[in-house]
Amino acid sequence: MTMTDSVRTRFAPSPTGRLHLGNIRAAVFNWLFARHHGGAFVLRLEDTDVGRNVAGAEAGVLEDLRWLGLTWDEGPGVGGPHAPYRQSERGATYRDALARLVEAGAAYPCFCDGGAGEASGDDEDAEGGEETGAGWRRYDGRCRGLTPAEARARVEAGEAHVVRFAAPREGVVTVRDVVRGAIETPAADVDDFVLMRGDGRPTYNFAVVVDDVDMAISHVIRGSGHLSNTPKQALLFDALGVPRPVFAHLAQVLDPAGGKLSKRTGARPLSAYRADGFLPDALVNYLSLLGWSDPQEREVLTRDELVEAISLERLGPSDTAYDPEKLRWVATRHLAALPLEAVVEGVRPYLREAGPPFDGWSGAELESAVEALRSRLGAFGEVREHLHFFEPPAERMAEARRAVSRDPEARTVIDALMDALAAVSDDAWSPETVKTAVKEAGTAAGVRGKALYTPLRLAVSGEEHGPDVARILHTLGRTRTLDRLRAVSMPASN
Ligand code: GLU
Repeated sequence: MTMTDSVRTRFAPSPTGRLHLGNIRAAVFNWLFARHHGGAFVLRLEDTDVGRNVAGAEAGVLEDLRWLGLTWDEGPGVGGPHAPYRQSERGATYRDALARLVEAGAAYPCFCDGGAGEASGDDEDAEGGEETGAGWRRYDGRCRGLTPAEARARVEAGEAHVVRFAAPREGVVTVRDVVRGAIETPAADVDDFVLMRGDGRPTYNFAVVVDDVDMAISHVIRGSGHLSNTPKQALLFDALGVPRPVFAHLAQVLDPAGGKLSKRTGARPLSAYRADGFLPDALVNYLSLLGWSDPQEREVLTRDELVEAISLERLGPSDTAYDPEKLRWVATRHLAALPLEAVVEGVRPYLREAGPPFDGWSGAELESAVEALRSRLGAFGEVREHLHFFEPPAERMAEARRAVSRDPEARTVIDALMDALAAVSDDAWSPETVKTAVKEAGTAAGVRGKALYTPLRLAVSGEEHGPDVARILHTLGRTRTLDRLRAVSMPASN
């Protein structure tokens, strides 16, 4: 088997809520890396911590991944040779692996605390290693000294117990991380952590390794919050007699204020970006920049370019901050590269929602409006922020009317515009004919540039600046354009 066909990565979310940019970034890198090598991207749901599972979260995760185009080759919904891909359905696999470890003396039952297995090993399955207990307390290793026969007898007698890993007591655990180099942890800092809880559910650290082995995962690419789990997991790979995967812990993503970006600090769910009308490719691109850099220093890359360019070597360990402005910039560039029809389709739902007259825009007028606004958009939903150029609020129009009426030159320009535009027939009304007519009006009034366009913009949009005015006029149509010009040309009576 060559390196190329043996690359297998995975994304292993816990169904505890919607994905946000911070946690979906791991999926992006795993997906890109698998695609780069023509390998497999596996989706596995880590749902053994039943107390933290949230109803409907699994469906949300799948929906988010599908929307981002991070298609999985194996996992829920598609199956695969290592099914099932939900940890809650893989109990037999964990029990088998546990039996092998106990048999080999690498794990032992522990009857302390009535099998409550307090401290260590539990519930460290979320980025950042969520501590659910009151604090870390090293297990004193009492049950490790029991003879196998004694331990077996107590288990067979039905005594409540957990199963612990017999961690090395001396030396240093060294883990190689592609991003961070060798990470050394004194063995004294690795507890005899719990593998199987008293109720028969595996802990995160155990299930993740058994699954990574069973699913032949070659590269574990994930958030730096899991660094503290890695020595334990590395030891488990060793104990199971399986080569460790390549570990790559991504740079931490901070929020714009420098705090931790996490579900707890209210990071925005991916579904909100979808609702805003961001392009999936733009998000994938932006997320790829959080902890990775292109060798050619490009920042705007298509999905194919990313697949081509991605490599673990270009991952960096330094913290990176989520920057909404940068995301918008990347998104704007992606949107600019779309054909007009795609932008029209993208904004359509938001125009429909905006009600009249926008929901009635169609054909060439709709295209003109979209062409006028598209360069301003980072996401389709932003179109809503620019509709006022077509339908200004009444107060703004009243103000514009006063501004024009105070300025005799502007009034002359408006009159010339009315004449020139009235001469364009309804049938001939297009961005080009309108543009020509506006220029003619300028010639007639002896003005150009700002002196010509400011009165025009004020008359139709109530603003001195804005998108391509010929396209605005085209979208408004002849009648409404002339009405608006007439309204400002009349002496201000209000
Ligand atoms: N289930 C873990 C989480 O939600 C991911 C496990 C891993 O990537 O090793 O963060």
